[in-house]
Amino acid sequence: MDKAGTLAKTAPRGGAVNAAWVNAASLPELDGCINTCMQCPLGATRTKFVFGVGDPHARLMFVGEAPGADEDAQGEPFVGRAGQLLNKILAAISMKREDVYIANILKCRPPNNRTPIPEEVAACMPFLKKQIALVKPRIIVCLGLTAAQNLLGISDSLGKLRGRMLTFADTPLMVTYHPAALLRNPNWKPAAWEDFQAVQKFLAEHAGDVKEGPSVG
Ligand code: SF4
Repeated sequence: MDKAGTLAKTAPRGGAVNAAWVNAASLPELDGCINTCMQCPLGATRTKFVFGVGDPHARLMFVGEAPGADEDAQGEPFVGRAGQLLNKILAAISMKREDVYIANILKCRPPNNRTPIPEEVAACMPFLKKQIALVKPRIIVCLGLTAAQNLLGISDSLGKLRGRMLTFADTPLMVTYHPAALLRNPNWKPAAWEDFQAVQKFLAEHAGDVKEGPSVG
């Protein structure tokens, strides 16, 4: 490998992001500004950038951890077995995947699905915050402890975070299990079902709400 190539594989690189992303007025505009991002080393190892998917004005927004192998191959979050389970859970609360917005803390897959490291989260988090600001969901649901801890900037356990109404930037937020965890531990499904019923109840109780502020999405 030549010298430049060696550096490309080993050094975090800024750039490959259009600085106009900060003022993007829509999700497609934001995607277009950042989908060649190389601001952390995962940009060099991804197959596809995984921006997010769903209703740009969804009332319910999911935040997961990072793309896995299927998501990296297809460029869409939650498309593997965990994604299929998420679709089933949504159907159980009378919602479709198209009704919600789904994004991750990281837009690029960590090697071997390892947990995101702080430097990667720090580099990528501003993009997720911008997505949330554009979607303006009525409620955010964090799927799994990694998503919750990083979005909220806390280190509490999942047991402490579940079953409570939290907030992120004035938006109500709940935490539940990642669907992949439910596939590994089916005995957690009843508790997850309680969480999703609480989300359904919240949305029903706030059916007529309109979020404050200009529509930018
Ligand atoms: S994970 Fe985020 S910060 Fe790192 S290269 Fe991908 S888009 Fe950029």
